[in-house]
Amino acid sequence: MHTVEIPIKDAKNPPKINFPDRCVNCGKPKHTVMPLQLNMGVEKRGQGVLMDFPVPLCAECEKKERRITYVTLVPFLIAGFILGVIAFIPAMLIAPAGTTQQTLNFPFVFGGFVGMVVGVIGGTIVEFILKLLLAPAYGQLLLKRPLTILSLFNDSEDVIGLSAKFTEKKRSLKVTFENDDVGKEFGRLNS
Ligand SMILES: [Zn+2]
Repeated sequence: MHTVEIPIKDAKNPPKINFPDRCVNCGKPKHTVMPLQLNMGVEKRGQGVLMDFPVPLCAECEKKERRITYVTLVPFLIAGFILGVIAFIPAMLIAPAGTTQQTLNFPFVFGGFVGMVVGVIGGTIVEFILKLLLAPAYGQLLLKRPLTILSLFNDSEDVIGLSAKFTEKKRSLKVTFENDDVGKEFGRLNS
């Protein structure tokens, strides 16, 4: 792992990021560029300022990157849904039925709540186990990716072999490479 920290003097004029001309994950010649943009959280002339972050990948790693969705988001959703439904039924059946008009729906509300909580927790556990099993194939940075449920609150950008995150108050950008050689070259290009 190699981490490069790029200082940001002015969030309204973010520095230009230069990537080596090869895949960030394996170092082979680049086949494509993922045109990511990082939100600087400030506005200039009424428009949000974005920092260009063009990540080069080879054909093989691009395919892998696309497949990552299937080992993270998809299992989370499927497992969460199934476990949620399984939990919903008994929770609904054991909930006391209301006697008044207002409480008549209580078993459904209770069942739905229990189903949602169980679904989120169960889906997250399944996703976590899958990541552990797949890290040898996808790289250790896969484990550092936030779980789906947490990624809603997370501001890091993750691509296969790479993770980028702003430091406090966006004073700098920390870019971590799984591949040391590519990381060092990136450091030289952006110093
Ligand atoms: Zn590659």
